[in-house]
Amino acid sequence: MNHIYYKSTRNNDVSILASRAILKGISDDGGLYVPERVPELDFDIKDIVNMDYKEIAYKVMKTFFTDFTEEELKYCIENAYDSKFDTEEIAPIKKAGDTYFLELYHGPTLAFKDMALSILPYLLKTASKKNGIQDKIVILTATSGDTGKAALEGFKDVEGTEIIVFFPNDGVSEVQRLQMVTQKGKNTHVVAIRGNFDDAQSGVKKIFTDKEFIQELKENNCVFSSANSINIGRLVPQIVYYFYAYSKMCSKGEINFGEKINFVVPTGNFGNILAAYFAKSMGVPINKLICASNDNKVLYDFFENGTYDRNREFVTTISPSMDILISSNLERLIYLVCDRDSSKVADFMRELSEGGKYNITENMKKKLKDFYAGYATEEETKKAIEKMYKENKYLIDTHTAVAYSVYEKYLKNTKDKAKTVIASTASPYKFTNAVMTSLDNKYASYDDFELMKKMSEVINKDIPSGVKGLNERKVIHKDICSKDEMKKIVRSFLGK
Ligand SMILES: *Cc1c(COP(=O)(O)O)cnc(C)c1O
Repeated sequence: MNHIYYKSTRNNDVSILASRAILKGISDDGGLYVPERVPELDFDIKDIVNMDYKEIAYKVMKTFFTDFTEEELKYCIENAYDSKFDTEEIAPIKKAGDTYFLELYHGPTLAFKDMALSILPYLLKTASKKNGIQDKIVILTATSGDTGKAALEGFKDVEGTEIIVFFPNDGVSEVQRLQMVTQKGKNTHVVAIRGNFDDAQSGVKKIFTDKEFIQELKENNCVFSSANSINIGRLVPQIVYYFYAYSKMCSKGEINFGEKINFVVPTGNFGNILAAYFAKSMGVPINKLICASNDNKVLYDFFENGTYDRNREFVTTISPSMDILISSNLERLIYLVCDRDSSKVADFMRELSEGGKYNITENMKKKLKDFYAGYATEEETKKAIEKMYKENKYLIDTHTAVAYSVYEKYLKNTKDKAKTVIASTASPYKFTNAVMTSLDNKYASYDDFELMKKMSEVINKDIPSGVKGLNERKVIHKDICSKDEMKKIVRSFLGK
């Protein structure tokens, strides 16, 4: 078999197999792992049209994770996509008006992060066994709100692991915060950071590349890995649902086989939409990848003028999981569009960390035409929720609403007739306040938990078990630290 090796975006000399890349999370040079080539499919997309989620997951993932055996990979998939999800479809598609919504929030924590984080612990354990790792794996995670809880659920009480989550103290919704600080499990740690998501993410990345600290941990039989979308163990499982969505659109008769569709993805760290880009490169008939941002519209500006510039005010919005100014996974796209020139990527990333911006070449810009970028303001986001509900009795969360709003602008500007699927990334129950006040301002005086009840009455569905009674659960994690204290606190958790 022809293995796929993984290169670092900042050093092409690095070349490792999937299981190693999953274990390491990020390369020592700070770069992210990228497969050395787009994997070739050993099936025709026609063949998957009637397959279920798990079958498609196996077909797609085996092309990337070539050093996993069939038995290993199927074991991971079976354990991930089970009754933790509240529907056997795993990721159902709903039609509302002329638009399709790929509901990626049917996992235990009600956000799309479950799609990958329910399998990552199994991939990691398997990878660790394959590589004869005896050390404890310490998962360090920065979260803008949803990754944290999904990672905690995935890794809680997983033998041989310890999980530490950092979240921005004032940057997550009340439901998101409570989901994390009430987390059970003897290997779980949750810390609030005085700062925003970028502070948390930079702090975590810094620890990952701190050679002395890594050595110190090694002496105590611990190794770091990451549950953030910098880990290819997150990215690859996300590619699956783009294949799945396409196959469902065919099997439901919404499109003819081969017909191109658009995907709209509410974007923060650029992981989800990058997965869609891979799906397109592998042959899924996709027309445009529509990248939707909120008021933190760094990506919109980047796609407009080729300059990535993080020097701007960080805005706290009602779509907090997209409140990000440094979209980590964009580095992978940059690597691909500069023809895998890792020294060029390293230069760009140095410019980004020193001056906060970089400029890509005209030639690179030309290769971004698969993408269309847009953004929605707070007002537009709320309007989109209201409109979708009033017209179709379909309730969407704030992130999905950003995508829907951007899609409407796209339609107006392009008159494109291609069928379009919006990645619906979270349940409205995670953002009760912002969602309900979009429907009617009278809800402004209610608290989040009264609003959960109201929401359940409005949409005539039970409150999902992931958030039901959340306000009565015991708060277990009360630590709060500054971004300079992250290393110290990690050390304290590991009993050093
Ligand atoms: C994480 C998240 C996003 C952003 O996804 P990226 O892969 O970081 O671009 C969007 N919506 C929700 C609800 C999320 O949790």
